[in-house]
Amino acid sequence: MIDSILHFNRQFVASKGYEPFVTDKYPAKKLAILTCMDTRLTVLLQEALGLRNGDAKIIKNAGGIIPSETDSAIRSLLVAIYELGVNEVMVIHHSTCGACHMSYEHFRPHMLEHGIPESVLTEWEGRGVADWLEGFHDTEASVRRTVAAIVNHPLVPSDVVVRGFIIDSVTGQLTEVL
Ligand SMILES: [Zn+2]
Repeated sequence: MIDSILHFNRQFVASKGYEPFVTDKYPAKKLAILTCMDTRLTVLLQEALGLRNGDAKIIKNAGGIIPSETDSAIRSLLVAIYELGVNEVMVIHHSTCGACHMSYEHFRPHMLEHGIPESVLTEWEGRGVADWLEGFHDTEASVRRTVAAIVNHPLVPSDVVVRGFIIDSVTGQLTEVL
């Protein structure tokens, strides 16, 4: 697959396919979005929100969550706010998210199958791997928790607007979580 992507890429550049996408690093809408890495949202999310290349900083992880105050997602948001001029943040979770009901109990046998030694799993269990890989069970509650993690973060300024949403993974319809 990667080789075929490289082949496409050479043609894309040679035919100047990039021309409609030329922009700079500053988000035109001063907007950041924290959302899920789900493949159904790869193009749908931007299209459903009317966003063009260059409009928003889009930060993605499994679920679109902030599990700790030093998590990489909050680090990216701080860069977006202080370096790139972002003043509004949308947290967008989505329907039938894979991170819903995700759990270490489910991963563990697969890890063994893939050759991760039992001793390594035991060590990581001691380091809290189960909490780390735990998903969420209530999507609305997870949106509220993630919005609160941003709003209440000591390094996030109070003049940044943060709002939470759930997007329908098929229709792209946004519903605000209040
Ligand atoms: Zn998801």
